[in-house]
Amino acid sequence: MSPTYDVIVVGLGGMGSAAAHHLSSRGARVLGLEKFGPVHNRGSSHGGSRITRQSYFEDPAYVPLLLRAYELYEDVERATGRDVATLCGGVMIGRPDSLTVSGSLRSATQWDLPHEMLDAAEIRRRFPTLAPNDDEVALYEKKAGLVRPENMVAAHLQLATRQGADLHFEEPMTRWEPYRDGVRVHTAENTYTAGQLVICPGAWAPQLLTDLGVPFTIERQVMYWFQPTGGVLPFLSENHPIYIWQDADDVQVYGFPAIDGPELGAKVAFFRKGRVCTPETIDRTVHADETRAMADHMSRCVPALPGTFLKAATCMYSNTPDEHFVIARHPAHPESVTVACGFSGHGFKFVPVVGEILADLALTGTTGHPIGLFDPHRLAAAPA
Ligand SMILES: Cc1cc2nc3c(=O)[nH]c(=O)nc-3n(C[C@H](O)[C@H](O)[C@H](O)COP(=O)(O)OP(=O)(O)OC[C@H]3O[C@@H](n4cnc5c(N)ncnc54)[C@H](O)[C@@H]3O)c2cc1C
Repeated sequence: MSPTYDVIVVGLGGMGSAAAHHLSSRGARVLGLEKFGPVHNRGSSHGGSRITRQSYFEDPAYVPLLLRAYELYEDVERATGRDVATLCGGVMIGRPDSLTVSGSLRSATQWDLPHEMLDAAEIRRRFPTLAPNDDEVALYEKKAGLVRPENMVAAHLQLATRQGADLHFEEPMTRWEPYRDGVRVHTAENTYTAGQLVICPGAWAPQLLTDLGVPFTIERQVMYWFQPTGGVLPFLSENHPIYIWQDADDVQVYGFPAIDGPELGAKVAFFRKGRVCTPETIDRTVHADETRAMADHMSRCVPALPGTFLKAATCMYSNTPDEHFVIARHPAHPESVTVACGFSGHGFKFVPVVGEILADLALTGTTGHPIGLFDPHRLAAAPA
């Protein structure tokens, strides 16, 4: 008996929804299984905005993937009519030797990406809401901006459905096992068979990928929305870039223009600095001392921003020890299982290209995209 599906995708958040789209666009018979409803706010892909940029301070090896992701943002917008990316420009600010500045410059130089270096006076002149110290500089990238996670996930789900994928929500995978030449996947209601399994578990990776050998740390993160003093006008995306700002204590904060109209203010968050949690134990309440700490921090660098606190929301990072992703055939099941996890708080901008890579890996066993940095073997525990 042949298996029911060519590929089962587990987890239809950012990465899984993109995988379901790319797989089904190539004619594969796809089943997607998701624990919650479509486009939910219990994982890592919600909150209205995510930064995207190409001068990537984390490592120049990400740049070719970003170039491809940008092409795919346009494809998704064309195919669905949804607004998924706004390229309002971005400034990476800090001392010249900070990772945020020096790492961005390294990628820009290595890949010949258009950019400008601004000193503190020029930052203040071009972007009057920003108040850098005299010893801070910025790399300005015109093509930086933001992507909209809910719209992107909804678009990929829409495309996958249109291409014939079966997407089952509120139906978590409970377990799976190798079966004949492929896999058998169990949920509370059903058992399915497929030639290939693609697991995109987000913050559930420690539970679903116990045999991967990667020590994940799940981190609670908070996003804050403030109504700026004097109103949102200077913060609108026509006037305002995204920013990532590393201070002298190496705290990184990042923020967005006001993208959702005058009442909803502008969003800001700390990059990293989160509390360790699990999807079951995460404290979803944002406490007054946290909001105060963010307002204090922002009053020093974007003084008009913390006018009135509007709201806050929690989200989870899934960190690997070196904060690089894991995208690979599963080392223990290389014939039939592909994994995408450990996106370490910077994965969303890659969502469409990760979908393409996962389709390559599941359907052909390999990919033309450079994913050597994401090999899980690099993180395997050293022999005792
Ligand atoms: C506050 C915050 C800010 C961020 N900012 C940025 C940014 O500016 N730029 C950027 O590029 N990235 C950013 N990121 C990171 C980015 O959002 C994540 O890397 C990305 O969303 C991860 O996608 P995912 O598919 O791995 O996880 P998710 O989207 O969470 O998807 C995992 C899915 O698996 C499902 N699932 C789990 N277990 C099962 C099961 N047993 N059966 C079926 N389904 C299951 C879950 O319900 C979930 O839907 C940020 C993240 C957070 C939290």
